[in-house]
Amino acid sequence: MTVPLSLDTLEPRLPSPVVAVVDERLARCGVELLLKRDDLIHPRITGNKWRKLRLNVQAAVDGGHGVLLTFGGAYSNHLRATAAAGRLLGLRTIGVVRGAELAGRPLNPSLARAVEDGMRLHFVDRATYRRKTEPEVIAELEHRFGPFYLVPEGGSNAAAATGCADLGRELRGVADVVTVACGTGGTLAGLAAGLDPGTQRAIGFPVLKGGGFLDGEIQRLQQAAFGARRGDWRLDTRFHFGGYARITPELREFASEFTERHGLAPDLTYVAKMLYGTYALAAEGVFAPGTRVAAVITG
Ligand SMILES: *Cc1c(COP(=O)(O)O)cnc(C)c1O
Repeated sequence: MTVPLSLDTLEPRLPSPVVAVVDERLARCGVELLLKRDDLIHPRITGNKWRKLRLNVQAAVDGGHGVLLTFGGAYSNHLRATAAAGRLLGLRTIGVVRGAELAGRPLNPSLARAVEDGMRLHFVDRATYRRKTEPEVIAELEHRFGPFYLVPEGGSNAAAATGCADLGRELRGVADVVTVACGTGGTLAGLAAGLDPGTQRAIGFPVLKGGGFLDGEIQRLQQAAFGARRGDWRLDTRFHFGGYARITPELREFASEFTERHGLAPDLTYVAKMLYGTYALAAEGVFAPGTRVAAVITG
């Protein structure tokens, strides 16, 4: 008997745990906060990346592909997760990394880990990286590496959104509002589609400056995955703290206080910004008293 090549064989912890947080700053606003611990799904394929990769790996295997090629910045969690999935399932992986100047230099810990997991890295300049969805750029990669299954930047495509709908379904009956950090928006696109549209809504917090463009991206992903806009969702673009991977003293202070109170150190690139935004909305009175808010710990 052959074991099917699937992320489901890697003993994911699903549904991911939901834990209640007791915090008087929220209790004062009548808000009950739950943490949806997607960071506990798998030790190596962390957080939302497991959900986003699951159906992509399946599509690659079904299509007879033994190679996954994908894109990311030098600190991309997605590149690292793809490399780990490749090693654990015996698929070859290629990571196209933004920044030609990084070639030949010592690798940062994130890229070093990807290489340890067998990922082949290919550094490209920023102009080429921006054109990564254009047919000529993809043809050049195929010429160089041979055939591959392409997973887009951040892992976000229709298969990823479909995989993330499980996250929404797991939260049915559990929460009234779900908050999530957004990079490419793939996780929110799926999450919102999986919630009960009559009684639940999702709020996404882009971690990049000017994240309003994600509105169209998320609609496009939902169209591709589900045929139409799905679920009750919106973005709040205020909590980027200067942009992607930017951290201010205020954010750091919030994150260390959260760690001290609740024993969970939030990732500063994504999760801390989302939690900060969630607390800010509670203080603004956006949530009616008695609202159960589930914050997704995406990694
Ligand atoms: C990748 C990532 C995100 C962003 O997910 P998108 O689907 O790209 O919006 C959020 N949180 C963490 C921890 C991540 O690694």
